[in-house]
Amino acid sequence: MGQLKVDTDLCTGCGECVGACPVSALSVVDGIATVSEACNDCGACISVCPVGALSIPIGERLEEMNLQDYKDVWVFCEQEGGRIANVTFELLGKGRELADRLACRLCAVLLGHDVSDLAKPLFHYGADRVYLVEDKLLTPYRTGPFARAFVSLVRKYRPEIVLIGGTTCGRDLAGAVATRLETGLTADCTGLQIADDGRNMLQTRPAFGGNIMAQIRCERRRPQMATVRPKVMEMPTPDEARTGELLREKLAIEDDEILTTVLEFIKSEGEDVNLVDADIIVSGGRGLGKPENFSVVRELAKVLGGVVGASRAAVDAGWIPYPHQVGQTGKTVRPKLYVACGISGAIQHLAGMRTSDVIVAINKDPEAPIFKVATYGIVGDLFQVVPKLTERLKQRL
Ligand SMILES: Cc1cc2nc3c(=O)[nH]c(=O)nc-3n(C[C@H](O)[C@H](O)[C@H](O)COP(=O)(O)OP(=O)(O)OC[C@H]3O[C@@H](n4cnc5c(N)ncnc54)[C@H](O)[C@@H]3O)c2cc1C
Repeated sequence: MGQLKVDTDLCTGCGECVGACPVSALSVVDGIATVSEACNDCGACISVCPVGALSIPIGERLEEMNLQDYKDVWVFCEQEGGRIANVTFELLGKGRELADRLACRLCAVLLGHDVSDLAKPLFHYGADRVYLVEDKLLTPYRTGPFARAFVSLVRKYRPEIVLIGGTTCGRDLAGAVATRLETGLTADCTGLQIADDGRNMLQTRPAFGGNIMAQIRCERRRPQMATVRPKVMEMPTPDEARTGELLREKLAIEDDEILTTVLEFIKSEGEDVNLVDADIIVSGGRGLGKPENFSVVRELAKVLGGVVGASRAAVDAGWIPYPHQVGQTGKTVRPKLYVACGISGAIQHLAGMRTSDVIVAINKDPEAPIFKVATYGIVGDLFQVVPKLTERLKQRL
């Protein structure tokens, strides 16, 4: 149920709001606008009311929230076709750390159809409790039913912290949930920790084009919500002996209340590149000079069995498509080996690859910032170094 209020002294029962409501939550009963359970506080009715009788009193409720009522750390389990996205496990690892510090439970939220088998790995990766909502309306992913299920779980169980993967689906869900709960959401966090006050979560993320790291708190609202991109947090080691409590809940929603229907999935055209899960990445930057020279990088990637990445400069120049971009506005990667060819190492590029296990940088400028994060640095012309490296590796591997 939303928080929309009708000022009965002002309402004339004109019915303007009824037609404006996208979820048919308004009707005129006995000459007064009446709000039903379906209201999601979208606010579409407020601007059409000619007498200003509708409002969502945010200010009032801010004072009302009792922060002590909120406990536990929650992680949204992203899954598709029976496979849990790795970011879920990474967030369970971080969530475990936060929950231990707060001395509370770590819980996972599993929504879908026929997905109860997926609860087990969530326990293995650190969850103490799994909230499970199974319904055929929960597959495939759609904002409406997922947000509805998640919000009603939050309203019932009141978590203190909610972590969601910074993926296409996670970003969509997090925004919808935070808006309905009227709480704060920090997107694309690179660090999460509990403040010295022992309650608030410090959410670190790049700001002002990546030139500073901002630390954000959500002090007056609960839950504190954050999204984290895949590979930003470390993958924890599972403990197959771990088990936990499974709580089943129902989805209180009917088919005809959902505004969207998925007709078909059409895969986007273009090169299919999975940088995020790659163990080896060879990236090229502006130092390559022109698009054809990416062949040097491709050759090395092929010999190493890796995939090709790129700096934004190379992508912006149109030398390689965007799915290859590594960095703040591209992918965050954490491969075992990252080879940077002709990349200067701007802070926005480093933001996406600095946690790689081994970094090899090839650059003709000995002062290039990439050497500050490199495990091995080769100062030289990439057109001489990379083909030689490729040749030698071809012989060895
Ligand atoms: C909001 C914002 C978001 C951004 N997001 C991203 C992002 O996600 N990813 C990203 O990469 N950038 C991002 N950038 C851009 C970033 O600031 C840099 O401009 C970009 O990373 C530079 O790419 P580069 O290193 O390829 O090019 P340059 O900085 O021009 O570096 C080229 C390097 O190649 C070397 N070189 C030249 N010729 C040779 C040769 N023959 N042999 C060896 N070395 C050679 C040069 O010495 C130089 O160090 C972002 C910027 C902003 C403002």
